[in-house]
Amino acid sequence: MAPYTQQKTVVIGAGPVGALAALYAARRGDAVEIYELRDDLRNPSTIPLNFTKSINLALSERGINSMRQAQCPGLLDAVLAETIPMHGRMIHGEEHGKLYEQSQTYDVRGRFIRAIDRAGLNKRLLDELERMPNVTFYFNHKLTGADFNRRIAWFEQRSKPVAGPRPPEIEINFDFMIGADGAHSAVRFHLMKYARMTYQQEYIETLWCEFRIDPSLDGTFRLSPNHLHIWPGQEFMFIAIPSMDSSFTSTLFLPASHFAELDRSPSTLVDFFKDRFPGVVPDLISEADLVKQYSENPHLPLINIKCAPFHYSSSVAILGDAAHAMVPFYGQGMNAGLEDVRVLYDFLDAYRPSPGSMPGGSDGMRERALSEFSKFRTSDAHVINDLALRNYQEMRSDVTSPIYKLRKWIEEKISIHVPLLGWATQYSRISFTNERYSEVERKAQRQGRILIRSMTMLSVGLVSGVSWWAWRWGNNSGTVGRLAHSGALLSSKLTRDGKGLT
Ligand code: FAD
Repeated sequence: MAPYTQQKTVVIGAGPVGALAALYAARRGDAVEIYELRDDLRNPSTIPLNFTKSINLALSERGINSMRQAQCPGLLDAVLAETIPMHGRMIHGEEHGKLYEQSQTYDVRGRFIRAIDRAGLNKRLLDELERMPNVTFYFNHKLTGADFNRRIAWFEQRSKPVAGPRPPEIEINFDFMIGADGAHSAVRFHLMKYARMTYQQEYIETLWCEFRIDPSLDGTFRLSPNHLHIWPGQEFMFIAIPSMDSSFTSTLFLPASHFAELDRSPSTLVDFFKDRFPGVVPDLISEADLVKQYSENPHLPLINIKCAPFHYSSSVAILGDAAHAMVPFYGQGMNAGLEDVRVLYDFLDAYRPSPGSMPGGSDGMRERALSEFSKFRTSDAHVINDLALRNYQEMRSDVTSPIYKLRKWIEEKISIHVPLLGWATQYSRISFTNERYSEVERKAQRQGRILIRSMTMLSVGLVSGVSWWAWRWGNNSGTVGRLAHSGALLSSKLTRDGKGLT
């Protein structure tokens, strides 16, 4: 591909999304500068990201495809080599005093998601950037201001010794800024002063706290490594994701009020776990370790952010959590952020100025590309934010429901045996395809409507048959009423349950 006329692209934030965006820009020949608040993640003294971020994540097709399209030979293979396939969920519970595990595969066609170490992925992307001559890193630089008309930005240099009350500040100029600076984005904050941005932010009632399940004494996994483990608890849940060192990273998701209760009476923590998450303590985490990790690891909030547009003029676009931070229950936050990069560059490539075009022409073309990108992507981002919120209910509760399982079973059977209908579960479309999120939601709703109609017809048929039978045999009407009620209940639950989860 012929390079663009060299432009200066500055990327704010060297998290996974910023790093991938920088790679895309650099591969197109831009002079790329990356400004990151923290020190280099690869420096052993840097405070690990997992202090505020989960240690490992579920990587799926959208994230994988975005790396595939980055035109960096070997990148994807190297990333995937450091992942662990998760073929399904393992639901844990207790019945009649006996522990049980129940595996639910993610995909009838055998596709799977992958557990990946967040820091490992981030480092790999930074290493890739390090090799490119047109990329410069500025670690310990915090964006403090931006003028998107004059294309000037200001940064605090945090590594420099502070003489006065504030660290020294530098001013830079740029052609194009990509804001990938996370949920509390400074780029978005400044963008709001320029674009007529609609903005909505919500903290959900749930907090999360991470725990580690060590490998067993012989160094092997204590649970099946190829599952995402869930202990559903109706109002809360505990999950575990495998790591390359044979440990698991587990997360407790619990309402803030419940955390507060446990904080008030820490002695109840172990009993709470024994009661609600059977088999975790002491089999996987010792009592002492549980108490220690609970008190030492932070209890963090979950934020959901929707905004629009994602750009201003030809000078700036926001991506990843900066544009659409979401709750983690569909395992899509980072995947969607990486997909933003691919989609943004699809538009930038489509509006690439032809060689020798008029000066300033590239700005006009970029403005059109950004405007199209914003329109296209905001609707998809809003859909996945909503789906992620709804999925919490499914993960912590519906996953054990027979109706959920029935809908999944029906949809998978149709998908395999009647491929012409193009049926698939919502989960498989979200996790294993690159279809637009909005399109996935539309198809899932359509499938839901068809299922209701079929179930209603089935119930009506059943009820009519039973009525006839009752009339014929002089049976009482109570049976008929109960059957009619069950039929209606079944069809209405089918619309709600079984939409898919991580
Ligand atoms: P970030 O990772 O937040 O990176 C932003 C970077 O910008 C940081 O390095 C930060 O230091 C820097 N920065 C911030 N402010 C400034 C500034 N002013 N100047 C310069 N730099 C700045 N997603 C998935 O896809 N799958 C999962 O399984 C999954 N599980 C999750 C589990 C939990 C518990 C949580 C909380 C999230 C999960 N996510 C998951 C979501 C995922 O973590 C985020 O979507 C992803 O990290 C977003 O990446 P990002 O690069 O946009 O932002």
